[in-house]
Amino acid sequence: MGTQRIEEHYIVTEPYYRVHGQELTIALAAYEHQIPLLLKGPTGSGKSRFMQYLAWKLGRPLITVSCHDDLSTSDLVGRYLIRGGETVWMDGPLTLAVRHGGICYLDEIVEARKDTTVVIHPLADDRRELPIEKRGEILSAPPEFMLALSYNPGYQSVVKDLKPSTRQRFIALELTYPSPDIEAEIVQHEAGVSKEEAEKLVRLAEMTRSLEDAGLQEGASTRLLIHAGTLIRSGIAPRQACKVTISEPLSDDHELVAAIDEMISSLY
Ligand code: ADP
Repeated sequence: MGTQRIEEHYIVTEPYYRVHGQELTIALAAYEHQIPLLLKGPTGSGKSRFMQYLAWKLGRPLITVSCHDDLSTSDLVGRYLIRGGETVWMDGPLTLAVRHGGICYLDEIVEARKDTTVVIHPLADDRRELPIEKRGEILSAPPEFMLALSYNPGYQSVVKDLKPSTRQRFIALELTYPSPDIEAEIVQHEAGVSKEEAEKLVRLAEMTRSLEDAGLQEGASTRLLIHAGTLIRSGIAPRQACKVTISEPLSDDHELVAAIDEMISSLY
């Protein structure tokens, strides 16, 4: 066996997560009944933080894989490596989670290569099995194992390649942005700014989200508001802070950037 250690995937201290709907109740029920989870939602809306909180609550290790367009089945399942002249098997993150009854969170599964569905299928349906082709082995997932995928429904997705029979095994939770008062509370907590400052940033976010009809792919996420708040707290002038954390990251289109800059000027 390789040297992947499960111990380091346990979350020891309670992560800050502000529950703002039924997400926790539903995810806990999914876990109890061994049903995999699909988290839908825009980037920066708290999906990863929610998974950390869920894993902590359940006392299970969390193995997160940030998917990318080159991510293959072997990256998830594992591979043989040469170590000091010997061939050793190295579990991939998915295998590690299955073996130890952990939670495997495939973040932005939209990015992964389509062949990864081959291993997701039997794990997500009733079989709950992980075929390790290279070892001629099939691992049965213990009841503690949970598979969670996140994706942004706005984009092309591997999820669309899951067979309907598999897709329909998932519980799908939509994690949208929380209500303004809760979002401000989160920004206040995470960026360490005043309530008023946080509320102002949330107002700005809402304005940018309204630009989605005007061609902006996505408005400012909670994450961007936290970035803006963090810069403001460190002494950078609010207009400048919002420009570099919100308008510039959101778009390269001059008109859209100008529109967001105007929104910033109207508030600051
Ligand atoms: P995603 O995985 O959806 O891209 P993240 O979980 O990384 O988003 O969220 C971005 C940041 O926003 C987090 O690091 C956290 O600071 C904050 N955040 C968003 N929603 C919440 C929430 N409900 N409770 C606490 N923090 C949150």
